[in-house]
Amino acid sequence: MFRNPVQSYQSYLAQQSRDDERPFKILRNKLTVSFALVSLLIYSITALMALVIFSSFLNSSIKTNLNRLLSDIGPAVKLEDGRLTLKDWSEMAGREHLRILHVVQLFDRAGKLTEEYGVPGVRTLSNGILNEVSRYRHLQFRSKFISVLNAGYLQVQIETKQTDDALAHFLNTILMLVPVVAVTAAIFGYAFCGKAVAPISQNFKLLRRFVDDAGHELKTPVAVISASLETLERAIAEDHQNTGVIEKASRASQRLRNLSNGLILLASLESPALNLDCEPVDIATIIGQLLEDFKEIADQKGVILIATDLHAAMVLGNADALSRLFSNLVENAIRYTAIGGTVKLSSGIKHGLATVTVEDTGVGIPSESIAQIFDRFYRVDPSRARDQGAAGLGLSIAKAIVEAHSGSINVESKPNEGTRFTVTLPKYSATL
Ligand code: ADP
Repeated sequence: MFRNPVQSYQSYLAQQSRDDERPFKILRNKLTVSFALVSLLIYSITALMALVIFSSFLNSSIKTNLNRLLSDIGPAVKLEDGRLTLKDWSEMAGREHLRILHVVQLFDRAGKLTEEYGVPGVRTLSNGILNEVSRYRHLQFRSKFISVLNAGYLQVQIETKQTDDALAHFLNTILMLVPVVAVTAAIFGYAFCGKAVAPISQNFKLLRRFVDDAGHELKTPVAVISASLETLERAIAEDHQNTGVIEKASRASQRLRNLSNGLILLASLESPALNLDCEPVDIATIIGQLLEDFKEIADQKGVILIATDLHAAMVLGNADALSRLFSNLVENAIRYTAIGGTVKLSSGIKHGLATVTVEDTGVGIPSESIAQIFDRFYRVDPSRARDQGAAGLGLSIAKAIVEAHSGSINVESKPNEGTRFTVTLPKYSATL
């Protein structure tokens, strides 16, 4: 099926845009996985540190309890008939520390158990964790003993089931949270990486689109020049005069020159290292000069070019760049206005800003195209604009110049009624 070149170029761009997204999708996924893995690593390290701190806190509190018990009970141990006893002490039930006390044992000098209170873990002397299981319950104890009155040993044991359970519970919770952390990190990572990648992807697409557009724009004049040169070669060989061909080639090469100059200017205007030579400039003077420069072109086209309200407005700017900015707007206004139409220019200070308007009674711009007209190579009607020698860079250059002067450009338009461009720039006052 036949497709016109503009249509096929559009579908090529659409396909290109889909292709351009793929590497960024892959990048986003890779970043998400890395984000989730790093989050898991941070979580694991933090959780393990918390576990170590928690367990050492529990251990030291058990140690403190054991020491406290020994120092509380030690003085209560009596020597009766050469044998250690705690009978008097055991009668004093209800003492506060008894509640946490599980086992108190007395051993003779040979290490033989002589007295015992509470349910024991083990019946031997030991300092440390008693891994043996109690006869009565499945418990674990920590124990400590001291020598008493040179006649034997006092040993206390504390059941550590609660603390062991707490540690096991803590570890289980940490493990159970691993998938939750992984999924949450992946969701957040995906959203976060999407946001991080979006501007890069956007810039890449703009760059890609720009390269495509530039290539497309350059193709036509280059083709015209080479075809014209071939024809010319043949004509010379046949000794024919063919001035039309030379004119065509020179028009195409002029277009190429405009395009490359425009691209170079845009690149320099958008360079972060841009350093415009600025001086106080009266924009009314620039507009006055443009009125003279464009008078002949407007007359030739049968368009009335006039200035209304031309008032002085000083700005700190680069006169050449500002002249280029306004001449692009005036050139467009004349280009897109039919015979008998009017282009009005004005300048002055409005709302504390230096303001220039370029207003025409031309073809206007459809509302759906307004947002794109400042894009490079965008044209509302590509074939018509190209026929008129337009390079499609005028408004992007105008916008870049305005932005380099910290100003703004605004457009209002109605199809078949006309268009008004308003440029505002910070006004210059000598006292600043
Ligand atoms: P071009 O070189 O094609 O004029 P520009 O960047 O200057 O490129 O303008 C982009 C498009 O905006 C034009 O192709 C045209 O469709 C539209 N445009 C710009 N100025 C006017 C205007 N004064 N009236 C109507 N359309 C305009």
